[in-house]
Amino acid sequence: MADRIGGQLAFDFDELAREDARASLGEWSGAPLHFTTDYYPPRELDEAFAHWCFLNTHFDSYASSHMWHRAITIPGDMTVGDSEHTASTFTAELRPRVAQEGPGGLLTQLICEPCEWHAISGDENHAVEAWHDHAFPGWRDLPVIPAQIRVRSESGLTKLATAWIAEHYPVEAQVPGAPIITERASHGTRHVAGYSPWGGYDLSATALDRPAPPSTSPKRSPARALPQPLPPAAGPARPGHVLGA
Ligand SMILES: [Zn+2]
Repeated sequence: MADRIGGQLAFDFDELAREDARASLGEWSGAPLHFTTDYYPPRELDEAFAHWCFLNTHFDSYASSHMWHRAITIPGDMTVGDSEHTASTFTAELRPRVAQEGPGGLLTQLICEPCEWHAISGDENHAVEAWHDHAFPGWRDLPVIPAQIRVRSESGLTKLATAWIAEHYPVEAQVPGAPIITERASHGTRHVAGYSPWGGYDLSATALDRPAPPSTSPKRSPARALPQPLPPAAGPARPGHVLGA
């Protein structure tokens, strides 16, 4: 009985706190509680998504909120060598629900907080490549590990690949967070976080098949706004960097 009463009281307190928070929504000064393409630091995106879930529900929260949340496979931040760059990876679910129509897709955003830099794309690989352009200029010139060399086994990087990389990669490119580039079969073209010897990406060599941007141009492509199915952002907006999907 005591437990039941205790549980009932706890539930009521939670609901009271929720009602308080809903009543004071106008005082919310964090990142928007809906989808946005504006730049926000990772911590603010985390707090906003947690607040949305508190106000509403965790159930189906990705699809219902359309808000940025940590990529399921890349929950942590990555730091890069001696540089100040970092990578925080978020996704936002804008795909229409079953039997509904609408614009949108599964979007990926990479953020470098020290630089207040971010890239958003409907193609995860494009966002990852843009981040490498930002944090590792020159990465496109790294050696491609040929397909004949088996890079990974069940227990991680193979000795053969480790030796090949140590021999062929420039010493200055063998730093924490640095990527490797591997030749893949046609169906395995996803860039994989955390699979380089230094915790960086294993990038598919298919990334190099697209023409490289002219060296005089600082951006890969002109910014193009994504369709915005939701109301415009409120709060302190900063310029966004949105890649063409
Ligand atoms: Zn940076």
